[in-house]
Amino acid sequence: MTVTLIRNADWIVAWNEATGRHDYLANADLAFEGDRIVFLGRGYRGTAEREIDGRGRMVLPGFVNIHSHPASEPFNKGLMEERGSLRLGMSSLYEFMLLMRPDDEAKRAAMLFAVGELLKSGVTTFTDYSIARAGWLEDLAGTGIRACVAPSYRSARWFTPNGHRVEYEWNEAAGREAMAAALEMIDAARRHVCGRLFGMLAPAQIDTCTEELLLASIEAAKARNAPVQIHASQSVVEFREMVARHGKTPIEWLSDIGFLYEGAIVAHCIFVDEHSWIRWPMRGDLERMASSKASVAHCPNVFVRRGILLENFGKYRKLGINIGLGTDTFPHNFVEEMRWATVLCKVAASNVEATDLAEVFHAATVGGAKALMRDDIGRLAVGCKADLSLVDLRHPSLQPLYDPLKSFVFSGLERGITDVFVDGRQVVRDGEVTTIDMAAAAEAMNRGQRDALARAPAGDHAHRPTERIFPPTLPIRP
Ligand SMILES: [Zn+2]
Repeated sequence: MTVTLIRNADWIVAWNEATGRHDYLANADLAFEGDRIVFLGRGYRGTAEREIDGRGRMVLPGFVNIHSHPASEPFNKGLMEERGSLRLGMSSLYEFMLLMRPDDEAKRAAMLFAVGELLKSGVTTFTDYSIARAGWLEDLAGTGIRACVAPSYRSARWFTPNGHRVEYEWNEAAGREAMAAALEMIDAARRHVCGRLFGMLAPAQIDTCTEELLLASIEAAKARNAPVQIHASQSVVEFREMVARHGKTPIEWLSDIGFLYEGAIVAHCIFVDEHSWIRWPMRGDLERMASSKASVAHCPNVFVRRGILLENFGKYRKLGINIGLGTDTFPHNFVEEMRWATVLCKVAASNVEATDLAEVFHAATVGGAKALMRDDIGRLAVGCKADLSLVDLRHPSLQPLYDPLKSFVFSGLERGITDVFVDGRQVVRDGEVTTIDMAAAAEAMNRGQRDALARAPAGDHAHRPTERIFPPTLPIRP
């Protein structure tokens, strides 16, 4: 196996096992052999087949994205940014999200494009929470990213007949069948020859899965030592629905049926009992999350576009809740989510010290890794996976350069990232993805969006024309 050496990097964000935090390490070397880091420190004396000049560069641990829908979300660009239902708690889930139904070829292109964006923003591991399709694993393997496949399934689908009431159509047998197929997909991912695929159980949403399906899911997850992730506490409608069904908050119900434990991930855990939009008089949800050691997948961007905030990231963390970040929506720019998470926490708390970038950076790396039950990613240390990115510290967007991570997240975003390695293999070079034809993917995605848009009015409850369902920013002059 060949050794690659990054020599004399200005800064390495290095993992400190003793403190359980990342540190800045100045003027240091990092070497990796095959897929593993073999040296991190000053004065590497071994040999190396490839040497990268680290001067003017920062070495970052690869980011860990624990929640994304790359095969569907890219199609919502230009349509959904300002769309939500005023009569359904501002959510876009029930009235708008179902309208875009691209074909499998377009979905494949969207997934490739989204993974390309993720790699360019320094993500080396991501969770693909999608409906399974043929060729999925091969497509993921070809991108070079490390992927946790989360083939989703459920016992019911939701719909709104009028834009102000949500109904559910149940089919328990179909849910069980889809879960069986998901298990085969997860097992195939774990066996895949590329060695970069693993899997999680993904019962889609708390309000679309029966208790039986959820219990079967955690049993299968525990048998495989795999994580399980569900969307819950993600809308006012869902909160009220769970209260109507069980007399309990969504988190309370998950806790009572035994779904919350170390290894379970709740996306998005926003509408808990103490959320200001809910006015629930009892308390206990955050304590349930903390004591169970379940994790939260926090994806601020998709919610804040509709005025919805998690209240608040810093409070969750202080209570001991593990949090990982995700890109639930487009753009698949993980650094942007980090900036949103930091700033929005301060907005939600009206307190500049409610969190800080160090805490959000922790969530973006080891917090996500912990949620995915991995201790070999999201950190730079000897023995860990060679999943890392290089940032060009001379990039104009980062100047003046006093604190490299602050410059990176608050000013430069992903623009300074030049090179990304996954499993020791280079997948981004000079800012370009080497494994994906981004232009071809964009073309297929555009075609898929146009086709799906043409079908949208037929699926709309009021059969509105496309330009009324998704009004353009400005009127188009005739
Ligand atoms: Zn989601």
